Amino acid sequence: MSREQLAVQQARKAFLTGRSKSLDYRIKQLKNLSRFIKERAADITNALRKDLYKSANSTQLFEILGLEGEINLAVSKLAEWAAPRPVNKNLLTISDDVFLQPEPLGVVLIIGAWNYPIAVTLQPLVGAIAAGNAVVVKPSEVSSHTASVMELMSLYLDSEMYQVVTGGVPETQELLKQRFDHIFYTGNSTVGKLVMEAASHHLTPVTLELGGKSPCYIDKNCDIRIACRRITWGKYLNCGQTCIAPDYILCESSIQDRVIDEIQKCIKEFYTIDPKTFEDYGRIINRRHFKRIMALLEGSTVAIGGDCDESECYIAPTVLRDVKPASKVMQEEIFGPILPIVTVNGLKEAIEFINDREKPLALYVFSSSKKVIKQMISETSSGALLANDCMVHFTLSDLPFGGVGYSGTGRYHGKYSFDQVSHLRSCLIKKLNMEAVNQMRYPPHTTEKLRWARVLLLKQINVTRWRQMAQVAVLAALAAFVVKRFLR
Ligand code: NAD
Repeated sequence: MSREQLAVQQARKAFLTGRSKSLDYRIKQLKNLSRFIKERAADITNALRKDLYKSANSTQLFEILGLEGEINLAVSKLAEWAAPRPVNKNLLTISDDVFLQPEPLGVVLIIGAWNYPIAVTLQPLVGAIAAGNAVVVKPSEVSSHTASVMELMSLYLDSEMYQVVTGGVPETQELLKQRFDHIFYTGNSTVGKLVMEAASHHLTPVTLELGGKSPCYIDKNCDIRIACRRITWGKYLNCGQTCIAPDYILCESSIQDRVIDEIQKCIKEFYTIDPKTFEDYGRIINRRHFKRIMALLEGSTVAIGGDCDESECYIAPTVLRDVKPASKVMQEEIFGPILPIVTVNGLKEAIEFINDREKPLALYVFSSSKKVIKQMISETSSGALLANDCMVHFTLSDLPFGGVGYSGTGRYHGKYSFDQVSHLRSCLIKKLNMEAVNQMRYPPHTTEKLRWARVLLLKQINVTRWRQMAQVAVLAALAAFVVKRFLR
């Protein structure tokens, strides 16, 4: 039996003991995960420095803080999330107990990516633990140092229920042959298709957190200086290796020079005149990606940056001007510190440009006009839309994170993570009395019964509203009693 098979078998065995059904158990595991990231903070920091040249503080800011927030939220809200959820009823079921009961799916496979290896691997884990699943975690082999640190999780978590399998593509492929109850994959869409194909053999549902080219439209009537500050931050953070980084800028040619000028100032302000020696400017993950990114420059005009050092996997913050839609850099997700500017004739053309391509993971629009923002919302589609900022939607647990179409399927963060790896079981509990009401559904199906069925089935009862009305009635009765008893 392979190591991968064994891991899945052990996880399933642990799941079948039923111990992860207890909310106390799940909370304990979540707290243990929290302890892991605190006690192993130095190991995590060192690993991310080695893998991506991340500074200690940026690791805290962009990998750990969000994860901590997700754990704390899950711990404080678990009882609420896991509780039965009442639903609206019709007149036929008015006296029944009708609710959704969240239940764990079983064994969940989480396949992580390398760019934020802690965040994109362990945030789905929080949801999977909270929902009561057993989990097999497969960290990305590309960020190998961080993957090794994640192996230490077994010292903190129930190591039968939560397995960590490290390794490369063959190990991932072996895992994908196994039967899971959900697969949560983060990475590129080519592998996303393989994951979906493998999952289909067992009819396993998938969450695919993919990427793509996230456009950024700058309206000429906006504060270009502020827009460029926010875009510069979003683009060059983690050396452009962020799934929701603005991939390219769309703007009118009349503002292109100003945009370049402002971005240049920001690069200097954020990363000094020599980003290579600045501690908060990262590196490309490996030479393969370095070569891929540098090749994207072919045929385009460099306006800022463009210098590189292969021995260090360093690519300077780079801007390309007057980029042609057919150019190499516009054919794939860049995932590196290169920012092409494509000029368009206004909003309408920008929208057409966006709609001619796959639906992006994020879409950014910078404008001081509400009309422009509204038009962008109503005439395009994307996983998320942000106006006048980049990427900060990631910080809100109440905003589901995920793509649409080619940028992914499914969503997570906060309660959405919990729901994503839960089955919301429909429950209806009837009593064995009031049989007379059921006459309506038994043969013979007369016109009279059909008339009654219309009334009983089509009238929706809003449980919350009924509850509110009942509360108002009780309060009114109480008030009437007080008036009658004491104020006469
Ligand atoms: P990667 O190379 O680490 O691959 C991800 C996982 O897929 C790894 O665990 C790897 O073992 C596995 N894998 C790779 N090739 C495989 C194969 N042939 N068969 C089976 N498994 C295989 O990561 P990546 O794909 O380079 O990550 C970058 C991409 O991920 C970008 O497109 C980025 O936009 C996207 N991403 C998306 C999100 C999101 O939340 N939507 C987050 C981070 C990254």
